[in-house]
Amino acid sequence: MLTREEIRELAEFRGEGADFAISFYFQPILPSDKSHREETIQAKDLVRQALREAEKDGRNGNVGGDLRRILELAEKWKGTRARAKAVFACSGRNIWREVDLPPLLAKSHLFVNRRFHLKELAELMGSQPRLWVVFLDRHRARFFDLHLDEVHEQEALFHALPHRGRGDGFAGYDAGHAERSVNDEVLHHFKNVAEVLKLGVEREAFDRLVIGCQEIHWREFEAHLHPYVKQRLLGRFAAEVGTVTKKLVREQGERMVTESLAQHRHEQVEEVLSQARSNGRGVTGLRRVLRSLEMGEVQVLLMADNYSAHAVECTNCGHLDAHMVAYCSVCGRSTQELEDVCEAIVPAAIRRDVELVYVKGEPEFENVGGIAALLRFRADQKKGGVAAAS
Ligand SMILES: [Zn+2]
Repeated sequence: MLTREEIRELAEFRGEGADFAISFYFQPILPSDKSHREETIQAKDLVRQALREAEKDGRNGNVGGDLRRILELAEKWKGTRARAKAVFACSGRNIWREVDLPPLLAKSHLFVNRRFHLKELAELMGSQPRLWVVFLDRHRARFFDLHLDEVHEQEALFHALPHRGRGDGFAGYDAGHAERSVNDEVLHHFKNVAEVLKLGVEREAFDRLVIGCQEIHWREFEAHLHPYVKQRLLGRFAAEVGTVTKKLVREQGERMVTESLAQHRHEQVEEVLSQARSNGRGVTGLRRVLRSLEMGEVQVLLMADNYSAHAVECTNCGHLDAHMVAYCSVCGRSTQELEDVCEAIVPAAIRRDVELVYVKGEPEFENVGGIAALLRFRADQKKGGVAAAS
């Protein structure tokens, strides 16, 4: 997978002259429905079609060579059913990035444009947080990393408990003493686990956290969690440390991520609609979203999953306009048409660390145009330069 920095680099790319950005997404076809052969033909068709269109528009540049290289790869990939792939290429600028993805793309796609097409990548990154699944009891803890369908065990903590055998002395005294040592050890163990999690957040080892343990252990453990670890906690489920399998990690982790993302998305949609209605920290519709993006106000950009719209972009200052004007309203230079405004706003959002949320199955959201933004602040309502924090 690409690092955030590498994705930002792709988002900053802007091809000029003979340099075009080629983005290829390859979704394997599952053995249950199609054969290898159809998969290869489909990929070839996409590449050939792109070659034809490039020649028609006179966009030769790096396109032919890069597309032929992609075609060769697609031939090789026909056997790798478990993984989707993406390639971002511009040989003119010495860019070639191959990425493994979980096989969750709607279909294979190929884009030849001035910018890289990052929607699917951003969507997968957003829906596939780096997750830690942690199992614990009173003397053991195991840490699993689940990202893009792959499970790795990170580390384990084991604390041998003090021996609870009968002592030679007065039974009452020894039993009480042993009990206290056990409790001290357990406390120490829970503190250690909480510390590993805190360090994990500090070194950005995970985005989200799920904990598997018994209810009784949770009650003891919870108090030790650092507040910023708690912020990343998606939830917990009942589990025994001793019987953990990678399959269980994957199932429970994915279930929690899916549920909490759906819930989170729904809440964000409700919030942006309510904020927009009250003229608060929310805007809807392309025109206002574009303006807020340019003002640097946007914290979360929400788009219908299939959102697409025409717009123009200034060839000089990059200003985006939902009205199809020939000249830029900011600097007066000529504009060029964008077939899909997402080609410009997705990279812009990535460059500015704006959270991207793709919305499905929310009719009210479709009614306001299928695009909206939650704002960090509203520049036109800012008083004395103090932005209202979220
Ligand atoms: Zn301009």
